[in-house]
Amino acid sequence: MTHQLPVLPFSANDLAPAISSLTIGYHYGKHHQAYLNNLNNLIVGTPFENASLESIIAKAPAGPLFNNAAQVFNHTFYFEQFKAASDVKQHPENELLRAIEKEFGNYEKFVEAFSGAAASVFGSGWAWLVLDQEGNLLITQESNAGCPLAKKQKPLLTCDVWEHAYYLDYQNRRPDYIKAFWNIINWKVIENRFSK
Ligand code: MN
Repeated sequence: MTHQLPVLPFSANDLAPAISSLTIGYHYGKHHQAYLNNLNNLIVGTPFENASLESIIAKAPAGPLFNNAAQVFNHTFYFEQFKAASDVKQHPENELLRAIEKEFGNYEKFVEAFSGAAASVFGSGWAWLVLDQEGNLLITQESNAGCPLAKKQKPLLTCDVWEHAYYLDYQNRRPDYIKAFWNIINWKVIENRFSK
């Protein structure tokens, strides 16, 4: 099985000014593509040659195969949750909103807690909103290629805080990138992940 780069649900300049077309060009066109090429090369001649991405993440030992498979999943998951800032629904609704309010008090407190988690990842990594196996909403941090699927958590939302995600647009100002991140979330995608 050859893994494929997903088609983005937006044009390269749709997310500006939160994320520039230059960053999309490198982050999707170079970094995501490189993880994908590495994955497709690494599975050749292994028991994972015909395995799904999710199965590789669940079963591969720590090392390059896991890292590249998880980064392919993480980046596909990250990019598919965005839409143009001019055409965005700013808040979650329905059952997802009720679950957020139950766990965090209200949407604003959730944003504050998630933003704090994203800002305080030390070095390269990811902040996540996940459902644990008991169905509780959790905000988590993962380093490097860490992926909630490897912990049997169901991911709902993620923020990539590797420097390649924001350095061209914000240099060292990771908190400014995280603040702008909220302006481009397609909450319909997050609600669909939650209700599936
Ligand atoms: Mn990235």
